[in-house]
Amino acid sequence: MYIDTHLHTIFSADGRATIDEYAEKCPSLGLSALCFTEHADMTAYSDPKSNSHDLFERGYAKFDGFREKYKDTVVLYRGVELGEPCHLPDVTNEFLRTHEFDFILCSLHELKGERDFYHTNYRGTDPVPHLDRYFDELIQVTEWNGFDSLAHITYPLRYILGREGIPLDLTRWSNSIDDVFRILIKNDKSLEVNASGLRMSYYNRTDPHLEMISRYFELGGRRVTLGSDAHEAWMLGTGLKDTAKKLRDIGFAEVTYYVKRRPVAIPIDEYIGE
Ligand SMILES: [Zn+2]
Ligand SMILES: [Zn+2]
Repeated sequence: MYIDTHLHTIFSADGRATIDEYAEKCPSLGLSALCFTEHADMTAYSDPKSNSHDLFERGYAKFDGFREKYKDTVVLYRGVELGEPCHLPDVTNEFLRTHEFDFILCSLHELKGERDFYHTNYRGTDPVPHLDRYFDELIQVTEWNGFDSLAHITYPLRYILGREGIPLDLTRWSNSIDDVFRILIKNDKSLEVNASGLRMSYYNRTDPHLEMISRYFELGGRRVTLGSDAHEAWMLGTGLKDTAKKLRDIGFAEVTYYVKRRPVAIPIDEYIGE
């Protein structure tokens, strides 16, 4: 069993691939299942000036048709990348009440009242206060607990440390990251290992970094989901098997995915296919 659990299509504002393009690549890549996690950032989703709501709902409505179309090729699971669920709790509650998912992947792309880290330019400024707020919000969202896996917890570092090359002493946030890991473990939730940073030449790291994943394991964390965070068809599955091998070296025995919000474990050797 080999699955990619973090994928965006044209039903996400920044996605460039169709479900058909992904599904058709699966036999040659050996992928037996895909989990689509279109963006539903609660601030944009609830903004009538944004097309996020309409885009998401169109994809949601069409999903069962694709599932049926490819049922003999690849199993398709319906997930969501739920962004900033604690910013507008009423919107989030209503969203979750009115949709059904196999998998809820929770992310924090922006701080309350701020732009997405992807769009923020930190050159000439001190990013530390912003990161202090990020890790505080991350703890809050982890405590909220209405998800299955916590996505790309070092998301801002891709841009601050990677793209903009601003040096940071990450030990400042070690205790916060430990708190996040302890809450995930206590609640039996997964940590996402996101491979997209491996495609960024300026970054070339998993998200979170391997040292942090080792710390998660040391604290007792055993559940990990693995995703390429593909936004274009060529990105499907990239970096996943290499990352799984690194996880196996750390000591992980399984990779987790979700069906109807219940965790299913794949032995890591089976995932790697060796
Ligand atoms: Zn994301
Ligand atoms: Zn994503």
